[in-house]
Amino acid sequence: MAERYDLIVCGVGGIGSAALLAAAQAGLRVLGIEQFGYAHDRGSSHGQTRIIRTAYFEHPDYVPLAQESWRAWEEIQRRSDTLLLRSTGLIQVGLPESEVVRGVLASARRYDLPVREMTSAEVESRWPVFRIDPNEVGVFEEQAGYLRVERCVAQMIAQAKESGAEFLANQRVVSWNVEDNGDVVFRTTTGEFRALRAVLAAGPWSSQLIGDLGLDLRVVRKQQQWFQMDRPDVHEANGLSCFLFDQPDGVFYGFPAIDSLGVKVAEHSGGDAVSDPTMVDRELHDVEYQRVLDFVRKRFRFSRIRLTHYSVCMYTKSVDEHFIVDRHPQFPQVSFVCGLSGHGFKFAPVLGRHAVGLVSGRPNPHCRFLGLRRLAIEPGAARN
Ligand SMILES: Cc1cc2nc3c(=O)[nH]c(=O)nc-3n(C[C@H](O)[C@H](O)[C@H](O)COP(=O)(O)OP(=O)(O)OC[C@H]3O[C@@H](n4cnc5c(N)ncnc54)[C@H](O)[C@@H]3O)c2cc1C
Repeated sequence: MAERYDLIVCGVGGIGSAALLAAAQAGLRVLGIEQFGYAHDRGSSHGQTRIIRTAYFEHPDYVPLAQESWRAWEEIQRRSDTLLLRSTGLIQVGLPESEVVRGVLASARRYDLPVREMTSAEVESRWPVFRIDPNEVGVFEEQAGYLRVERCVAQMIAQAKESGAEFLANQRVVSWNVEDNGDVVFRTTTGEFRALRAVLAAGPWSSQLIGDLGLDLRVVRKQQQWFQMDRPDVHEANGLSCFLFDQPDGVFYGFPAIDSLGVKVAEHSGGDAVSDPTMVDRELHDVEYQRVLDFVRKRFRFSRIRLTHYSVCMYTKSVDEHFIVDRHPQFPQVSFVCGLSGHGFKFAPVLGRHAVGLVSGRPNPHCRFLGLRRLAIEPGAARN
């Protein structure tokens, strides 16, 4: 019989690497199984940067998780010799009644967060590179910035290994089941691995592992694009913060230039459906390129611009676009994290810890709102 781990993490991307770290630091004998390599570019956790913010427009219930995550990233950063987290602040712009502006202010009020309301003229005066309509407003959040996404994943795996975790790359889990004695057994392309408990963190591949739960996850293709502009003030070193615009035709966001690739810009809204995440089309599509370029032309002042790089990534959307983190209704020794809906990376340390906590008797009470209960999935309704 194969040796038995305390816990197996299936899928070691953004969330799985955090779960691996949490389990190892809790003293568990843990194995992570990943179908690709370290911090790879084929799932949802690549493309240089991810925004981290606290005054959460999607729902105030995320605020305690964001605060805890910020502290956790600082701790991971402290143990690392490379830069992971940069606090640049975040300017969010929209009409006063837009979802983003209203949502940021609601979270800031509920948790007494320092957020500065700005008129369009104030935004343009602080960042002359931007064009803001007179009827729009800005909300600037100081405790926000970006995470170097691949470095974060690589660091979490490295720190997990330092704490005793085992990591198996290039091994795809083909199936899993729970045996009569309660062991969770994973079959990969080359072998069989068993554990007392398991965390499933398969990102866009989640439906292949927990399709029995009927979660209606929708994977969509997202493009990230980098532009060089002939303005020195688009550089982080010259004071540009991260930015997010809630426009009537979509939500667009981006990052200051941090190297020669230039400013990174992407659209949060929209995205074409992906039927097989392994086969996602990685080409730059004209329509998406044009939408982002139109946004950049509308919002930035410059005279010359050049696309330097692009990258295709995937969102896995839940029905309500909130994360789904819970125990499997039929197998309490198995937890899962999925449906991060394009905003989950910043929370990785907290979600990873919670996923381990769910199967070790130490769940995070602040994560309760992310459970299955809201989706009316009843225990026992799943596979047989
Ligand atoms: C373009 C883009 C921009 C984003 N911007 C932000 C942002 O600014 N801020 C933010 O907080 N979030 C953002 N997100 C969302 C965030 O990046 C994702 O929610 C998060 O990284 C997802 O992590 P994950 O672990 O669920 O998925 P992944 O990182 O894809 O990890 C899943 C892992 O499971 C592995 N796997 C799957 N099936 C198997 C199997 N059968 N066997 C073995 N291994 C398997 C995969 O190979 C993969 O490594 C963005 C996402 C994208 C795509």
